[in-house]
Amino acid sequence: MAEVLPYGRQSVDESDVAAVTAVLRGDWLTTGPAVERFEADLAAWTGAPAVAVTSGTAALHVAYAAAGVGQGDEVVCSPMTFVATAACAALRGARVVFADVEDETLTLDPAAVATTARTRVVAAVDYAGHPADYDALRRVQGDALLLADAAHSVGGTWRGRPVGSLADLTTFSFFPTKNLTTGEGGAVVSADPALLARARRFRNHGLVRDRAEQRFPDEGGWHQEVHEFGLNYRLPDVLCALGSSQLRRLPAFKARRAAVAERYRDGLADLPGLRLPTRRPEADPVWHLYAVRVLEGRRRALYDHLRAAGIGVQVNYIPAYWHPVFADLGYRRGLCPVAERFYAEQLSLPLFPDLVDADVDRVIAAVRAFFA
Ligand SMILES: *Cc1c(COP(=O)(O)O)cnc(C)c1O
Repeated sequence: MAEVLPYGRQSVDESDVAAVTAVLRGDWLTTGPAVERFEADLAAWTGAPAVAVTSGTAALHVAYAAAGVGQGDEVVCSPMTFVATAACAALRGARVVFADVEDETLTLDPAAVATTARTRVVAAVDYAGHPADYDALRRVQGDALLLADAAHSVGGTWRGRPVGSLADLTTFSFFPTKNLTTGEGGAVVSADPALLARARRFRNHGLVRDRAEQRFPDEGGWHQEVHEFGLNYRLPDVLCALGSSQLRRLPAFKARRAAVAERYRDGLADLPGLRLPTRRPEADPVWHLYAVRVLEGRRRALYDHLRAAGIGVQVNYIPAYWHPVFADLGYRRGLCPVAERFYAEQLSLPLFPDLVDADVDRVIAAVRAFFA
């Protein structure tokens, strides 16, 4: 049998290996010059300063902390996401209010967002790499902060503006299946200096080192103090060096992902049993997922057919509130019908930069054989 294709995977080449080994041979393993360099390299892509952290989940936790999310607050959240977008808000003590997505892009529907005096954050997700409609979300955010979970969309733009400059806070993941990788890793980006400073501090135990801000500034040269609890979410130098190297390759990743998506479209567009992803004219996505919809209740059968053929398809995602942890809190099925209908039909075909045309054609042939 042919080798099993994953639905996503990293691309690591000799330039990445060289960047990492150079740091391993140097003086710094954790917080050193490669951290600042990676944050600056990322800022050049996002148009706003960045704080590197240990995962996309850590980035969400940091972002909600920076936004001041706590007990009694509400966070409006898209359900069509990996559970971490909602879980991190719940971990801060907030009540998560799920709002439905748009049928075309599967991103948070501005018309479904209802804020109250308690809403602290409106959290959108750039599903599959397609930016949400941040212009429309700006008009409904009220007094809340707008957060972009951009785990899928680093390198993309909306109306010519880069992902990272579209919301008050943006979070990234650099997990191996994402658009670039540091192994585990993530970042928080914000143009607001106060939010950024709070994010930086939460990443490093909440430690206050600037004497001007300390309560006991005359304690001695060694002194640092904590005003609000934080965690250790520091991304090490070694991984930041990999991140900078991967960012240099992001234009090539973006182009290859677009070419694979186009090849799928050319090979599958005539099949009446499938609905293929589209993009808005305002969006220039980096496609993280190639998320098709399988019509007439045949998603599970196609999933099993492709898996049996050694093709590692995936389903992204079960609506976040279907997880038992939310069901046990009283969230009921039926809450977000557009997201639920999409989940019932969704299938992610393999998509990653090192996928060769012959593999794409093998996937297309296997899908066509299923519908034949
Ligand atoms: C991957 C992902 C996360 C979590 O990122 P990790 O780096 O795996 O912690 C959060 N949100 C979305 C939408 C993701 O795809």
